[in-house]
Amino acid sequence: MRQLYVNGVWLSSTSGEGVDVVDPATEEIIDRVPAGSPADVEPAVAAARAAFPSWSRTAPAERGKLLAAAAGLLRERAEEIARTITTDMGAPYPVALQVQTLMPAGVLESYARLAEEYDFDRGRVGDSLVVKEPVGVVGAITPWNYPLHQVICKVAPALVAGCTVVLKPSEVAPLAAYALADIFHEVGLPPGVFNMVSGRGPVVGEALVTHPHVDMVSFTGSTRAGRRVAALAAETVKRVALELGGKSANLILPDADLAAAVKVGVANAFLNSGQTCSAWTRMLVHWDQYDEAVRLAVEAGRKYTVGDPFAEGTRLGPLVSAAQRDRVIRYINRGQEEGARLVLGGTDAPLERGYYVEPTIFAGVAPGMTIEQEEIFGPVLAIVPFGSEDEAVQIADGTPYGLSGAVWAGTEERALAVARRLRTGQVAVNGGRFNPLAPFGGYKQSGIGRELGEAGLEEYLETKAILL
Ligand code: NAD
Repeated sequence: MRQLYVNGVWLSSTSGEGVDVVDPATEEIIDRVPAGSPADVEPAVAAARAAFPSWSRTAPAERGKLLAAAAGLLRERAEEIARTITTDMGAPYPVALQVQTLMPAGVLESYARLAEEYDFDRGRVGDSLVVKEPVGVVGAITPWNYPLHQVICKVAPALVAGCTVVLKPSEVAPLAAYALADIFHEVGLPPGVFNMVSGRGPVVGEALVTHPHVDMVSFTGSTRAGRRVAALAAETVKRVALELGGKSANLILPDADLAAAVKVGVANAFLNSGQTCSAWTRMLVHWDQYDEAVRLAVEAGRKYTVGDPFAEGTRLGPLVSAAQRDRVIRYINRGQEEGARLVLGGTDAPLERGYYVEPTIFAGVAPGMTIEQEEIFGPVLAIVPFGSEDEAVQIADGTPYGLSGAVWAGTEERALAVARRLRTGQVAVNGGRFNPLAPFGGYKQSGIGRELGEAGLEEYLETKAILL
């Protein structure tokens, strides 16, 4: 059994209980982490609180140096950590290496730079001075789908800001967070600055959220759990940042390069077996091009070979757990019951062992169908027809979510005009690439606040006015 990381040392949980970590490709237990208790949260919060006065007064550039050293070790160990992530949550190894490990290393480096560049003195308003100061002790709660990236998106800006942290990683895929804790320990982060208590959301997560000495909670996960976190945090008037679900639209206007838009759209929807909060899970296509788009999507989708995530040529690994696989299968059944047309994939198990789901595409999806409204979190793409630009915008905005999306048009100007109309936190125009410095976060029920870059740092800062 692994341990908890509190005040710079590894400790056993008082609960004595554990959570098995399962490799979703083999269904075998590969590790066991403590199922922490509320009693385990106490010393972790106390350590973070005790470390705060001195850490918050450390020069930001010093804090940045420790993060840069951590990023260096992360790059050195990238292959080993990527293998851990693959066995922990099933992403094909190349995805685990590039997207799940090296990209977060880049995010860590970006915050090391920002520690040097960001001016915590924000200038004057009339006679008054405006300064930014760390919010205090941060409780960070993260999901399993990008188990290292989601942790770094919170811990890096919090530490640069001068906050101290208690992390509760996902109990479903906790091993990348353990690798990061080892790295923070080795680079000599002072005791108490970073602490980690593994365990279940309703136990460890809620103990953090309700703790009077935790000043802020930063949560990434489902909208359902996020709602609960926000409600509980209100009791102690904590700052809350929420990164929640999505049902993003890939809006393809009639004058766009259809082949490129469909190919990139399918790739986006199926990345990480569709377990990506910002995935473009709805492809919106004009009636005139609808049949051609469906044909192109099926052709592209067939190339997503399902298999062992370590095998060469595998593009879709297993889903993270049996529960997630069953949930996705229920949605595929629901899509058929509601009259959508299955044009690729379905509910058959592609392999005898492992929590696999075929790449699945539905055509004939109408606005309002369950598979058009709800986040499925699996390799399931819904292709929805539209008749006019206004109707397309209405469909794109017609869910409770607003996290990401895309617009394709014949000119950048036209695509930009539509992108500006959408009620969503991020939009890619004509294939614009993901930018790890650009603000990331949701409108509507996709969340509150932003991660990454300067916007991500400012989430962890209070504003003080000094009146002169
Ligand atoms: P989840 O909500 O079940 O769990 C997320 C984390 O919250 C876990 O650590 C879990 O233990 C904890 N948790 C659960 N219930 C809690 C409670 N009552 N109080 C405190 N903590 C609690 O989500 P998941 O299944 O791990 O992740 C998938 C979801 O995360 C998807 O809905 C996805 O869209 C979302 N997600 C969002 C983003 C984003 O940036 N917007 C990124 C990745 C994932």
